[in-house]
Amino acid sequence: MLNKIIPENSIQKSKKIIEHCNKIVIITHVSPDGDAIGSSLALYHFLLEWGKEVNVLVPNNFPGFLKWMDGAKDIVVAEWRENTAKELIQAADLIFCLDFNARKRIEPLTPWLEEAKAKKIMIDHHLDPENFCDVTISHPEISSTSELIFRFICRMGMFDVMNRSCAECIYAGMMTDTGAFTYNSNDKHIYYIIGELLEKGIDKDGIYDKIYNHYSECRLRLQGYILYEKMKIYEPYHAALITLSHEEQQRFQWKKGDTEGFVNMPLSIDGIVFSAFIREEENMVKISLRSKGDFSANRFAAEIFNGGGHFNAAGGEFYGKLDDAIDLFEKALPKYNNQLTFFTVHPSANH
Ligand code: 5GP
Ligand code: MN
Repeated sequence: MLNKIIPENSIQKSKKIIEHCNKIVIITHVSPDGDAIGSSLALYHFLLEWGKEVNVLVPNNFPGFLKWMDGAKDIVVAEWRENTAKELIQAADLIFCLDFNARKRIEPLTPWLEEAKAKKIMIDHHLDPENFCDVTISHPEISSTSELIFRFICRMGMFDVMNRSCAECIYAGMMTDTGAFTYNSNDKHIYYIIGELLEKGIDKDGIYDKIYNHYSECRLRLQGYILYEKMKIYEPYHAALITLSHEEQQRFQWKKGDTEGFVNMPLSIDGIVFSAFIREEENMVKISLRSKGDFSANRFAAEIFNGGGHFNAAGGEFYGKLDDAIDLFEKALPKYNNQLTFFTVHPSANH
């Protein structure tokens, strides 16, 4: 049996809202990842089966390795279809906010969301959710929003309405947010849920293959390059950094998603507990942070880069030159000397 995580009043309130609404929009965060797309499309399939008019809206494009998912081609990418995005938000009577905790995470859609007359339901697992929805289902202890979607559907008593496409998207989101069940994945209920998804007919090995074994040759060579030439180790701080300039991305024909997961790789070095990946974008510098055990990547992201995320996986943005972002990172390390030096890594840590 699945344990109850989501409060009963949140389930009842959400169910009542959905029953009274017909035009539903699902929005997820900028640069959507597997959990963002997986949870959104899972809810999309479920609501379609329910008979609702549903659209999934994302601020910008998402990686090619997520485009096999049923419904992916119907996602409205706001950077390409601004008017459609705006009209959908204005016409909606219900908006789901999935896999994000703060309005600025969906920029440039933020003002439209704030002006929308629709009811709003948040389903998310990031720390410190903002209070802007009619129902806020926020569970940082759960490793993916996709798992929360499974729990949400079941708790409404509608497991039967979940079709195979919905189950596939849930599995894809659960898998990608746990590094294929290698971190944040010690909760036994995850495996109960996978059993139920298999009952729905998912091909779990096939989903792994579609996500992790369809990269370009350039992407694999880029991985070799960054590990051999670009990875910097800060031994006294048990930290590592990988940086990538715009020129280097062009050289390796960088595409969205190509660098996904790179930030995790230095954590496989014995003794490294904190890893950063700093990548130059067109008008800003993107920071990705990962940590192991008790060192808070989320705190570092918030304090140094005005960002956020989860305890062990966070990110931020820097508006300036790549070199200045690197400098900021390097100068910050000594400030965290105590936490980085006297660390303990709990093998079962699940933040
Ligand atoms: P990633 O490194 O995969 O881009 O992001 C890791 C985590 O940090 C994600 O859960 C994401 O929501 C969060 N995150 C990434 N970038 C930002 C950011 O600029 N601001 C905030 N608040 N969170 C971020
Ligand atoms: Mn997530």
